[in-house]
Amino acid sequence: MKILGPEKSLLQSIDEALIEGSKNQKQNGYPLRPSAAGYCSRKLAYDVSAFHGHMEKVEEVKKPNILRLLDLGHYIESHAISYIRKNTDWDVKYCQQSVILFKLASGRMIEGSIDLALVSKDNKYKAIADCKTVGNRWSSGFQSKWDEMNNKLERLPSVHKFADDAFYIDDIAAFFKEIGEDALQKNIMQINAYLHSGWAKEQGFQFGIVYQYLKDSSKHREIRFRPSQAVFDQLKTKYELVEKYGSKGKPESVPKDFPLGSFSCAYCPYAQQCWPGDRTSKAYWQTQPKKNWADKINDLEKGAELKELFLKREKLETDTNILPVIEQEIITAMINHEVRKIKLDDGQIFEVVLRKSPRERLVLVRSKE
Ligand code: SF4
Repeated sequence: MKILGPEKSLLQSIDEALIEGSKNQKQNGYPLRPSAAGYCSRKLAYDVSAFHGHMEKVEEVKKPNILRLLDLGHYIESHAISYIRKNTDWDVKYCQQSVILFKLASGRMIEGSIDLALVSKDNKYKAIADCKTVGNRWSSGFQSKWDEMNNKLERLPSVHKFADDAFYIDDIAAFFKEIGEDALQKNIMQINAYLHSGWAKEQGFQFGIVYQYLKDSSKHREIRFRPSQAVFDQLKTKYELVEKYGSKGKPESVPKDFPLGSFSCAYCPYAQQCWPGDRTSKAYWQTQPKKNWADKINDLEKGAELKELFLKREKLETDTNILPVIEQEIITAMINHEVRKIKLDDGQIFEVVLRKSPRERLVLVRSKE
């Protein structure tokens, strides 16, 4: 068949241009920046070693869809910031402010650029913030990743919920221990570093904010925190060590911050150097919860309540008006009892699943074991 137009599809042209553009944009600057604060020390040591010419830098190859997503994130972030600008008691100030954090023993400066600084209109409060877009998916646990994080933040002793979807952390070091490996930790470390720059101190910035924006549904979340000198001092020590050994081409002398099976190692460009022969992504997925087996209704503490609701459902199965109401009651009861999949006495299995279309909602569906 004679296809009209050029042989190459529009999509091929876009993807090729993106890959080409990303090759030209490869980071050639000094790797120790505030944005790298949460990265593994060993990874940074490899990067520093490559920067000083001791080895080839292993570049992370990003697929075009990831590049498109990252690009989209920038648009969403400026859209989200426009809400702060228009609708709050805060002024958006000093975007892209360059700052110096500290000087290493080697004489090299650690510097970066602050994306977003906020000053309250009455000039009482000053915060360094960062807007981060996040994606959502059904968690291997019980809820969507977004809801799961909300629940986690509500439960952690170091976190105080001060409004809907708004949380405050007074001691970020304690929070890091509680939350474990999480992107939020990296975001906070970066902002904490900015808060300790000479410029931020001079200007009187008091706290940090991570403003998360959910791409899929425009939900948003605020994580506010008190800066920590101890966490900043740890960063200085870490960067000194990385520079010391990385500049000599001895990255192996720097400790690995993450174990095999961690998310950081799973997709790290240096995985083969650190864990030769091991498939780090496989090791990571092996740590994830296995298939979710159904809970037997009789084994549940509140099984009787659920049994009654399922019985009601069975009787009303043909009544299409009432059925959705009963199913909603069942979903709520299952959520309250943290049950995602349930097996009834007669062997039927039901599961609560997240449907995204035409709108995001939880539905009750029949399931296999
Ligand atoms: S593989 Fe893991 S330990 Fe090694 S550099 Fe990467 S993140 Fe660090």
